Amino acid sequence: MGKAMILLFLLACIILFFGVMIPEETYRQKDEVIHALVITNAHIVDVREGKIISGKQILIQNNRIVAIDSAINHLPAGCQTLDAHEQYIMPSLWDMHVHTLSLSPQLHFPLLLANGVTGIRDVGDGDSWISDIDDLSERDKSRWEKQAANDGLLMPKIEQATSYHTEEIEGISMDNYQQKVPELVTKLKLRGEPFVKVQLEKSEIPNEIFYALQQEARKQGIPVLGHLPSQVDVQQVLDNGFLSIEHAWALIPHMVNQRKTFERDLQQKEYDLAHQDSALARVVLQKMVSTSTYYVPTHVSSNKKEVDAFDEAVQSNPHNQYIESVQLFFWKTLNWLHTSGYDRETDLPVLKNYYERGLAITGLAHQNGVTILAGTDALDRNVYHGFSIHDELQEMVKAGLTNHEALKTATIHPAQYFKRSDEYGSIAEGQIADFILLKKNPLEDISYTQTISTVFYNSRLYDSDDLEDMKLFVKRQASSFGVSCQFIWNMIKRS
Ligand SMILES: [Zn+2]
Repeated sequence: MGKAMILLFLLACIILFFGVMIPEETYRQKDEVIHALVITNAHIVDVREGKIISGKQILIQNNRIVAIDSAINHLPAGCQTLDAHEQYIMPSLWDMHVHTLSLSPQLHFPLLLANGVTGIRDVGDGDSWISDIDDLSERDKSRWEKQAANDGLLMPKIEQATSYHTEEIEGISMDNYQQKVPELVTKLKLRGEPFVKVQLEKSEIPNEIFYALQQEARKQGIPVLGHLPSQVDVQQVLDNGFLSIEHAWALIPHMVNQRKTFERDLQQKEYDLAHQDSALARVVLQKMVSTSTYYVPTHVSSNKKEVDAFDEAVQSNPHNQYIESVQLFFWKTLNWLHTSGYDRETDLPVLKNYYERGLAITGLAHQNGVTILAGTDALDRNVYHGFSIHDELQEMVKAGLTNHEALKTATIHPAQYFKRSDEYGSIAEGQIADFILLKKNPLEDISYTQTISTVFYNSRLYDSDDLEDMKLFVKRQASSFGVSCQFIWNMIKRS
């Protein structure tokens, strides 16, 4: 028996070894670069004002919108024409909370592009889970950008990416934090992190240390963002500087009067729901406005997945064909574990109420003037790169935003967050020309953002056949033996 096991193990290792050796395939950008393009017969979705502008032509040159006019008389030499056939043109979308893996070129990038997402904020690439903080070696983002420039790899703009989560502050205690915290922040700066992503809710670090981390980061000019630890004083945290609060579940506990902690998650949720304080919520949200803190509720992941897991349809979601087979196996197992850990009769209503409270807080945040960003948490269970941003926009509308306001969360607001409003977020002269064409007007129904027929990105035009081809590529990769071996190998390296 022992021998058989050893042989089996060796065989698995050999298979994995050969699987990992299979060369990776990548999806390339189109070869044809369009230097000049005039678009006719399009209705412009004016995301700034929330109205449709018709009867204008749009001239694009070298990836910039250079003119919008009722008739453009002097077209540059070699200018191509795109007849939009009365479709709707709007800026392409940003997903502001995404995770990548080193396999993202195979599994995620074509899906993002096929769904009109041309820009992301990567809040912790998968490989960060293995990096030790002293490792300054080249990270995925720069490797991909080189591949895009030299070999035409298709990838979205990764405007910001962090490769390190602050999930625990190992070795830092009340005795040494005054020395250790500055060291940590200095290291993060050295790594070139655009922000300090905190995910410290499980570490129970004393508030003094958390505030010291914020103050040090501020001193060194690097923003802190991420999950709000549940024990902190939220007003203090906002005063110290917290660029964006991620996830509804991390904000809900801060709108509870007489906070109390419970062992069991469901009990905690029940208590938090029963003690929601709307006056306190208003104070917190107004503080977010005065400190210019963004809010990224990620409805489709956080609370919704806990409810959706009970729905049979989730297990057979057609998008599952794009999920790598080993990962899909884990998702299904986790969904099963999740549902068997709860009682459908008594617990599911609590989970539903919690999810709905999340939506209500987004509505309140919006009413109070908080700037909301659309993010999906793609890579997380039951969340799909590309597809899920459209679901998130629908969640925004459920939360009480108008269709127009929902569109802003994936266009104008991300541009504002990156301080790039002059280049991104709208169809206007001077803007970078990344756009999508929709068959139907998204100001009428937010679900119409899914009617994409064309994506223009990086001076390349992708029609619906191209977009289908991108999806097909991912579908093949997701069930490929080599990719599965890579996926398992990366998991082994990480653990
Ligand atoms: Zn996340």
